[in-house]
Amino acid sequence: MMAVERVGVAVIDRFHHPYLDSLVLPQTRIYVDMDGVIVEPYPAVIRELRANGWPDFTIEDWTSWDIVDVLGGRSLDVAMAILATERIYEDATLVPGSIEAFAAFRANPRILPVVLTAPLWANATAKVEWLLRHDFLLKEIVLAADKNLVACDAGDYLIDDNPAHFKSWPGMGLLYDRPWNQNYECDGVRTLRVFNWEEVCDAFL
Ligand SMILES: [Mg+2]
Repeated sequence: MMAVERVGVAVIDRFHHPYLDSLVLPQTRIYVDMDGVIVEPYPAVIRELRANGWPDFTIEDWTSWDIVDVLGGRSLDVAMAILATERIYEDATLVPGSIEAFAAFRANPRILPVVLTAPLWANATAKVEWLLRHDFLLKEIVLAADKNLVACDAGDYLIDDNPAHFKSWPGMGLLYDRPWNQNYECDGVRTLRVFNWEEVCDAFL
């Protein structure tokens, strides 16, 4: 064992490569979904829905991920066009505590926080611009059509309000509690429900 450690140190001394440094001091990568976890786009979404055919819609009506079901069987195309507008991110607010959590994670050399979002491509630019306006860093933003395209391992966490993303995630999934995910039961081992950012920070810091 000692011999292996000495070899490792010798290799690192010779190359001084940041990647090797990261092997010596492994970081916990915390991938964080954007919509509903970092940003609160739903007041704007609801405003758009009310103006475009759903005058009485409230956030309490949003009880599942099936948007056609939620909107009473109305056209998926119409609903998606509303969701994809860039106006959604013009006045969307922060989920309380999210930016403070990122700042605390960045300050901890053992933690690497990453924004991981699967955007509707029509408003992907608006999403990134919103993140940059709110002091998130370009280098910590990943846009992926499928979150499982990201290379990750069993030590990586995913904080998301959509439990569908946990199915193939190799690490632990933290389900951010929202009205539309109440029907999902976390097993307490691979998946755990969290209720606010304060609780998340207490768990990691
Ligand atoms: Mg989300």
